Amino acid sequence: MHAGESRDAEGAIHPPLYAHSTFAFASTADLLDVVEGRKPGNLYTRYGLNPTIRAVEAKLADLEGGEQALAFSSGMAAEAATFLAHTRTGEHIVCLGDVYGGTFELLGANLPRVGITTTFLRADEVARLPETLTDRTRIVFFETPSNPTLEVFDIAALSAKARAAGALTVVDNTFATPVNQNPLRHGADLVIHSATKYLGGHSDLTAGALIGRADLLAPVAMWRKNLGQMIAPETASLLARSIRSLPVRVRAQNATAAAVASFLATHPRISRVHYPGLVTGTAKQIVDAQMRGSGGMLSAVLDATAEQTAAVVDRLHLFAIAPSLGGVESLITQPITTTHHGLDPDERAKRGIADSMIRLSIGLEDADDLIADLAQALDPA
Ligand SMILES: *Cc1c(COP(=O)(O)O)cnc(C)c1O
Repeated sequence: MHAGESRDAEGAIHPPLYAHSTFAFASTADLLDVVEGRKPGNLYTRYGLNPTIRAVEAKLADLEGGEQALAFSSGMAAEAATFLAHTRTGEHIVCLGDVYGGTFELLGANLPRVGITTTFLRADEVARLPETLTDRTRIVFFETPSNPTLEVFDIAALSAKARAAGALTVVDNTFATPVNQNPLRHGADLVIHSATKYLGGHSDLTAGALIGRADLLAPVAMWRKNLGQMIAPETASLLARSIRSLPVRVRAQNATAAAVASFLATHPRISRVHYPGLVTGTAKQIVDAQMRGSGGMLSAVLDATAEQTAAVVDRLHLFAIAPSLGGVESLITQPITTTHHGLDPDERAKRGIADSMIRLSIGLEDADDLIADLAQALDPA
């Protein structure tokens, strides 16, 4: 709630928005103290030397239990700066499991253009990680839970393997949120968020975050500054506003998603539900060891064709048909029509992304209302 906040001279209940691009000094000597890093201070917003940006970064660091945080104009900006700062031409990244489409494109299509290559291992190939790590591997990257199959990865075990090979572990914690999981506590070196999702929480801002040790963030801050990827102060202020209610929102979303997942798991038209709260065996051990709540995201496979699935989706009243996630309003997508549209059908099949899969982002509506809506859409009169 209060990390990074202090009362201003006017007594404003939380820090005001400094929308300013530049800041003035009493003297040249004072300016040089800030420019040369002897004193903290405000200077120029694109550098991040702005009180509103500093305040939200203190909140982000606190949320993940990290030493420092950098705020970005988007989740992809955070990823791109991290990859560019911590690898160079000729070096290598390993990406585990299913990842966000933009991440897949950045690693698979953009970075190879500058000689940074990525090996992608599917969830069922993760045991091959040790033999995939080379002396040129700098980063092991993954999401847990992943999109859209909600696969969970063992952060402690994977980061130990990466560390042994001299690589950093970077975890995208967007789906879990810092309320349910803190990857840094389990051995990850850096945590990334698309703050556009749960941290923003109201589908009205685009932002990103990177959290970790100061020495690992410093090279990323330079790329952020010179690629011009800074969060806007207006967005930083809105993000801080949203983070104040994050735990309350996420706990409600955890509870409602668990109720929806249980309803779908027993429905005759549903053949499979992917939800961290419903897993058994080794996956359950991983969930219990690293998650405090199961999250607001779930996916399900219908016993139906892609067209019949679309008809079910189209009959829903409360769920909006939209990509993205993490807002107060419930959303639904068929991954084949949005997030995984570009993936070839064979690759989708290997990854367990069925044509009849639906992905739900649970909002703050009443659980019984959402279940009733799903019931009528699955069983039209
Ligand atoms: C949306 C998303 C991103 C990209 O974030 P933007 O804010 O859209 O740039 C990265 N990772 C995950 C898991 C996401 O859901």
